[in-house]
Amino acid sequence: MTDFKIWMNGRLVSQAEAVLPVNSAAVFYATNVFEGLRAYWNEADGELYCFRLAEHFARLRESMKMMRFTVPYSDMDIYEAVREVLRGNEIREDVHMHLVAYVSAPGLDSTGPTGLYINPRRRGRISEGDGLRCCITSWQRTHDNAIPIRLKCGANYQNGRLATLQAKADGYDAPIFLNQQGTVAEGSGATFFMVRRGQLVTPPITSDILESITRTTLIDAVAPALGMDVIERDIARTELYVADEAFFCGSGYEITPITSIDKFPLGTGEVGPITRRLTDAYVALVGSDFVAQYLSRLG
Ligand code: PMP
Repeated sequence: MTDFKIWMNGRLVSQAEAVLPVNSAAVFYATNVFEGLRAYWNEADGELYCFRLAEHFARLRESMKMMRFTVPYSDMDIYEAVREVLRGNEIREDVHMHLVAYVSAPGLDSTGPTGLYINPRRRGRISEGDGLRCCITSWQRTHDNAIPIRLKCGANYQNGRLATLQAKADGYDAPIFLNQQGTVAEGSGATFFMVRRGQLVTPPITSDILESITRTTLIDAVAPALGMDVIERDIARTELYVADEAFFCGSGYEITPITSIDKFPLGTGEVGPITRRLTDAYVALVGSDFVAQYLSRLG
């Protein structure tokens, strides 16, 4: 299977050609911001549908603003670049793309020149599986006044990496972070939801989490369509131990069930009914035409 080409600063290039200078701020300090985009192949329509591009582009702009750098491309240019990646690689399957803006000059305080690349990788839909066995990590989610998680930069993921390596060394599948207030934040690369006494609960966006597009989609579209409300409130650690169900969500994770936390089984210890209903509804939604929605928003 051949590697997909990468769109880099206006051209489709091979993986080997997509290189960055070792002394760039991008390589040395991880001075980049990025988005993880999904495109779903719809066999019946013979179309690829990208999930919520407008929202991803808006978040990329917010991350760049916080990092004080800009890219010389409009949202429409980036949209055309995404199309070129999909068309140029003749993609007819589910893919995940990294859309990365980076600073190519050296130095801690450099803010340009800014480059952009889009790197597509084959990635099928998440299959339900048995659910994740999670732990509460002893690493804290970095605080908004230190390295804010709202800012989606590569360097932030070192916090997630430390916790993930620790969780795996301790025999778990994945960590759940508490923030510096001691309440639940999120996973290393996903938003956290739990079901307790029939209520669907997720931490607020002020709890040192990324403002997840999947989270918004569940709150605004998927849960209401199923007659459920989502409660956004602080969650205490011990609530997790007595939750009936829990799951991670995100563009990459879609909806990934969690079946135990710190070895406490949740509910029956199997994937719960509310998680199942939300997953079915989410999967039905993502294979549909969000590109049209994106264009109408720009128009
Ligand atoms: N939190 C973090 C730290 C993430 O990296 C992600 C994945 N982008 C999420 C949450 C979920 O965000 P989204 O639904 O926008 O993919």
